[in-house]
Amino acid sequence: MRIELLGLPLDALTFDDTVRLIVQRVERGEPTLQVSMNAAKYVRAAENPALRDFIRRAHVVSPDGAGAILAARRLGLHVPERVPGVDLMLALLPAAALRGWPVFLLGARPEVVERAAAEARRRWPGLEVAGHHHGYFRPEEEEGVVERVRASGARMLFVAMGTPRQELFLDRWFPRLGVTYAQGVGGGFDVLAGVARRAPEWVQRAGLEGVYRLMLEPRKRWRRVIVDNARFLAMVWRAR
Ligand code: UDP
Repeated sequence: MRIELLGLPLDALTFDDTVRLIVQRVERGEPTLQVSMNAAKYVRAAENPALRDFIRRAHVVSPDGAGAILAARRLGLHVPERVPGVDLMLALLPAAALRGWPVFLLGARPEVVERAAAEARRRWPGLEVAGHHHGYFRPEEEEGVVERVRASGARMLFVAMGTPRQELFLDRWFPRLGVTYAQGVGGGFDVLAGVARRAPEWVQRAGLEGVYRLMLEPRKRWRRVIVDNARFLAMVWRAR
């Protein structure tokens, strides 16, 4: 079921239903853009109309962070559980392997995406990683990257270039990429490559993954995360 949270659509689905919905859509060849929402993305969207439009046009909008769930509950809306974007990618890759859908990994530093691709092939034998490319290209190189994805014949694309870069890239190029499914995964390749560590299971279950990551962040980001969260709380407060 689709609800509206802070002026943006949100799909109130369980994790498993989200995976099922996406697999079904890809099976039928329905173009599908997925966006994962967390507190920071609500704040970025409030200040960036292009990002807002992209989220409104997305076919699947999932509550990535605990912030989105808490805000929804505070506003009397029901959202069953978190659907972390990284976990979604980790569930879709084996689904792609099973169905013979080629995937493309775009983003992160060259050595990270390289390792993520190798790790994906190792974990899910039979998975066709049709190609990968780092996420540090210049605007004038963008079209060439789009062509690489298109020529690879990939059916699913995962983009790890941070927000809003990954979303705006997909906004501009989705129809030309030739893929049926695309998802922005932020730091997802760092997790898959084993460069970034996830919070322990119990921390994730307690909805404290954001706090855990905050503790690992360098000084500069720390402040930004605190400011984002304060602004997010203010947005939720005003919405009440
Ligand atoms: N990244 C990229 N190109 C850029 C900036 C960042 O490929 O121009 C990658 C970066 O290497 C990392 C990923 O984007 O792997 C996610 O970065 P971050 O965690 O800052 O994004 P967030 O999910 O917090 O928006």
